[in-house]
Amino acid sequence: MKFVSTRGKVEPLGFSEAVMEGLAGDGGLFVPEFLPDISNKLESWRGLSYSKLCFEFFKLFADDIPQGDLEKIIDASYKKFDDAQIAPLSKLDDKTYLLELYHGPTLAFKDFALQLLGNLYEYLLEKSGRVINVLGATSGDTGSAAINGLFGKKNVNIFILYPDGRVSPLQERQMTCTGASNVFPIAIDGTFDDAQAIVKELFGDADFKKKWSLAAVNSINLARILAQCVYYVYAYLKLPPDRAQSARFVVPTGNFGNVLAGWLACKMGMKVRGFTVATNQNDILYRLFKTGVYEVGEVKPSYAPSMDIQVSSNFERFIYFAENKDTCKVREIMQAFKSSGKWIFENFNADVFSSVRCDDSSIKKNIRNVYEKYGKIIDPHTACGFENLDGGVNVVLSTAHPAKFPEVIKSAISRDVKSPILEELKQRKIERMECGANSDFIREIIKERGIRK
Ligand SMILES: *Cc1c(COP(=O)(O)O)cnc(C)c1O
Repeated sequence: MKFVSTRGKVEPLGFSEAVMEGLAGDGGLFVPEFLPDISNKLESWRGLSYSKLCFEFFKLFADDIPQGDLEKIIDASYKKFDDAQIAPLSKLDDKTYLLELYHGPTLAFKDFALQLLGNLYEYLLEKSGRVINVLGATSGDTGSAAINGLFGKKNVNIFILYPDGRVSPLQERQMTCTGASNVFPIAIDGTFDDAQAIVKELFGDADFKKKWSLAAVNSINLARILAQCVYYVYAYLKLPPDRAQSARFVVPTGNFGNVLAGWLACKMGMKVRGFTVATNQNDILYRLFKTGVYEVGEVKPSYAPSMDIQVSSNFERFIYFAENKDTCKVREIMQAFKSSGKWIFENFNADVFSSVRCDDSSIKKNIRNVYEKYGKIIDPHTACGFENLDGGVNVVLSTAHPAKFPEVIKSAISRDVKSPILEELKQRKIERMECGANSDFIREIIKERGIRK
């Protein structure tokens, strides 16, 4: 299988190369050159364990990795989950299911992709004799999941910038208490945007990037999207067969990565009723699906911070398929969007998507309602998915453990939520670097601590 760029200006690459590249050289995102048909495989996949299913799915794409190696990489990636099902599907009532994606080591769904990406990187680096320095900025969840996926791995050091005092104390502990010698969390005296700007600047410096083999772990990596397809198929196969085809997946969304993965599985032949894109008050996608107008607004911090995003980077992959793989059109849209912050889709076709928007007061209301109705405590991101559920069969994706957001839970239902993993972190020593929001300081840190061949 080859992977092509959504912007059509680079040569197709094999799986391993596309994973190592991350972003395509023309600024586009990698997509499979064709989507395999899984409709005739689904029955034979029923009853497989999570990691076996993941292996069967990845075989269709990662055909440049020997199957024995691929199987080992995948098995290792789901070892740190605290539920044997990995992605348990719990039934709330006859029509409502919760797909629990928070049983990974950092208690958020990003572990599904980043545990696997960490193992893939280690394998591919070892094989090619290369080393990389991963550099990223985070407002919380991505940084902790990336660090957990990469700590202790050979041939890779990881530098994560975060705004000092502006990530939650628990998230900071998840990044700074690993004790691993290849992990460098850096608290920046500035905002998330400052951290992001520094990362962009260093990636934009071609010489520095090459010399230090800088690599990214952001949500546009192809392997992340494919890893996320698997839990949709897993949930589909766990549903009673008479329910599966009429199910709608409801997905709390920021960068559009999670819901895109489900939609791709659907295009490969996993037939369902549709997908609901659930946003918080940062609602660019909600407005798009209601009106066909894609227009950036200003980011307003919410109770669901991992969805506080205005430009949804993975949306470009949807545009590519929606425009029938017309890469010229994708370039035109992305260019116009970049310069004016807006694109109007003529005759917009929402396909199987619908959308809901959930502001902070509704987040609390939904946490309360779900607790009162089902006795289940959900986190603020998951709460967005419970906004205006329609009357059909719905599978709501639960993207984080509520213990990551104890203050919101407390104010919604007056309950304290704890997780043993997070409690244990409180005993450990915080190890972090601190520095001003200046790219020269970060350059120095990488020169001193970066890994080199
Ligand atoms: C990242 C994240 C999301 C949003 O996922 P996208 O792939 O960006 O749409 C939702 N909930 C939680 C808890 C997250 O960490």
